[in-house]
Amino acid sequence: MTIDLAAFAKDKGVKYFMISYTDLFGGQRAKLVPAQAIAGMQEDGAGFAGFATYLDLTPAHPDMLAVPDPSSVIQLPWKKDVAWVAANCMMEGKTVDQAPRNVLNKLVAEAAEMGLNVKTGIEAEFFLLTPDGSQLSDEYDTAGKPCYDQQAVMRRYDVIAEICDYMLEMGWNPYQNDHEDANGQFEMNWDFADAVITADRHSFFKFMTKSVAEKHGFRATFMPKPIEGLTGNGCHAHISVWDTKTGETNVFATDKGTGETGELGLSDQGRAFLGGIMKHASALAAITNPTVNSYKRINAPRTISGATWAPNTVTWTGNNRTHMVRVPGPGRFELRLPDGAVNPYLLQAIIIAAGLDGIRTNADPGPRRDIDMYAEGHKIKDAPKLPLNMLDALRFYDKDTSLKTAMGEEFSAAYLKLKRAEWNAFCTHFTTWEKENTLDI
Ligand SMILES: [Mg+2]
Repeated sequence: MTIDLAAFAKDKGVKYFMISYTDLFGGQRAKLVPAQAIAGMQEDGAGFAGFATYLDLTPAHPDMLAVPDPSSVIQLPWKKDVAWVAANCMMEGKTVDQAPRNVLNKLVAEAAEMGLNVKTGIEAEFFLLTPDGSQLSDEYDTAGKPCYDQQAVMRRYDVIAEICDYMLEMGWNPYQNDHEDANGQFEMNWDFADAVITADRHSFFKFMTKSVAEKHGFRATFMPKPIEGLTGNGCHAHISVWDTKTGETNVFATDKGTGETGELGLSDQGRAFLGGIMKHASALAAITNPTVNSYKRINAPRTISGATWAPNTVTWTGNNRTHMVRVPGPGRFELRLPDGAVNPYLLQAIIIAAGLDGIRTNADPGPRRDIDMYAEGHKIKDAPKLPLNMLDALRFYDKDTSLKTAMGEEFSAAYLKLKRAEWNAFCTHFTTWEKENTLDI
């Protein structure tokens, strides 16, 4: 049954709704709508000037309407007056095809037509910094190998526990929190779910973590590599695919009717889905690693802690974290490529797009490599290296016609246009490195 937002407001004491959509760069944009006006907005959507939306629209376009999806509504646990609701972008009665949540909805529907429901869990890592972003928030967090540091995680207990309490309250089933591998870095985990739910939660988690950090006088960042020499912010995705009929059969774990599983507990369909991810890896990096800074995390030299925990080559294996894909147990796999800058909706969309293509073409993921990639990666000569920078990734994406089509022509054209403009803006920026290394040439 559709949730009536006006009744929701009355029932919960909500005064304002934040009608929120996610732009092509992963930024969340919203209008604050008083509860008195929400009934009309639920029907027609909140209006935004197209040119300002970061969806590749011009000043001449009519209003872009963000129509709330009431199933996504969340009363802010830290500010009960306000409720956040994810919106789908519409224009003149039609979906805006390049809008990230629409791209994901389209791919979820395609999977459903094949009888498949993709479920994912994500691990969104973040740093807690000083408000101006220049330093770690905790000056005592200096250990060379700080992962799981008990003392350091307790120094930020007030922030971490507050966020975890909210996740408990919202019913996300959070189950663990820790200090991660970089100084000042944390990770919090909650249950996997259907791709759209995970994307909405991922978006809300970023908003919530930044808001709670600000409340405590800190700044939370999901930037892929905010501090040189330290481990970066990953956003690993754990993927499984279920049948839509009963919703109870993990089709990655068992082949239809046979009850048997293949290599490392992956069914034929699971293997083909993985094959799609492997086949499109260099191109999908344009989505999973979307910023200039992303490429300082993958392909990075060894960090102070001893490992980057990020891949540099398109390889897969069993329970071994040095590869792009890890199969930690039967019926699922972990994609370790995405980083903290990834657009929550496009992350899920690109996984489904590449995976479904893998199933349709019965893609072979190639041989698994049971080696320590950080120590012996140089021995692998026949696997592609991941793109070295954002421009490389955009070029791979542009060349990958089947992936571009699967994500949608309008989306792919808009994304490439805005991202190329971003790359060009970066290239016109003068760096101190250039002066230091070129002044006396
Ligand atoms: Mg982690």
